Amino acid sequence: MDNKLDLLKAALGEVRVKEGELIKYHTYSKLGGPAQYFYIATSQKELLLSLNTCYELKIPYFLIGSGTKVMISEKGLQNVVIKNRSTQIKLGAIKGKVGKDGLGIEEAQIEADSGVLLGRLNEYLRGQKLKEIEGFSSVHSTIGGALFLDPVLLDLTEIIKVWQDGEAFEIKPFELQKSKHVIISAILRVKAA
Ligand SMILES: Cc1cc2nc3c(=O)[nH]c(=O)nc-3n(C[C@H](O)[C@H](O)[C@H](O)COP(=O)(O)OP(=O)(O)OC[C@H]3O[C@@H](n4cnc5c(N)ncnc54)[C@H](O)[C@@H]3O)c2cc1C
Repeated sequence: MDNKLDLLKAALGEVRVKEGELIKYHTYSKLGGPAQYFYIATSQKELLLSLNTCYELKIPYFLIGSGTKVMISEKGLQNVVIKNRSTQIKLGAIKGKVGKDGLGIEEAQIEADSGVLLGRLNEYLRGQKLKEIEGFSSVHSTIGGALFLDPVLLDLTEIIKVWQDGEAFEIKPFELQKSKHVIISAILRVKAA
């Protein structure tokens, strides 16, 4: 593993790969002992790089979003724990009518990284005068953690960018499978508030 650790550090950054980091500092549940190796991905690019590196080096990994749902023991976890803190939200295509007060948005496409918190996404939607998402998940959950469980969020989703076995590609929501896919980002269609 030492050689693999060197390669992992060379790919992800010497100081970014921590050894023995307590997972409890990174979970909403405040549970979890030491991770053998721990890495925080702060963007889609870093998330993909960490997944691809683990895949190429054949090192098992465990991905956490906000850690509201995961129960990790005080013994911690072997191999690599990746914490997803990708945060980008982008406004895509918009549908609306031009009136005397300018463009009135009726509907918009929003692309959000899988590490975006649902509470943060709602804050963004409020700012854009779009309808907030009132799903079943906690506002502390990430989009990536919630999409597998929350039918309201899934219903608003048009396209999901996923990673599987070294490849990133787009799928329709009905194709999403927990056993296969890591969620990288999602494109949602949201109506005006
Ligand atoms: C106060 C509170 C209220 C809640 N209420 C509800 C409720 O009413 N209904 C409900 O269903 N849940 C509820 N939950 C649970 C929680 O909101 C969901 O389980 C949430 O979807 C988990 O998101 P997370 O980011 O915390 O995921 P995590 O706990 O970090 O991870 C959960 C699982 O998803 C996997 N995962 C995380 N990110 C990704 C990704 N990008 N791609 C692939 N897999 C990933 C992890 O590996 C893990 O297996 C609640 C939680 C809290 C704290």
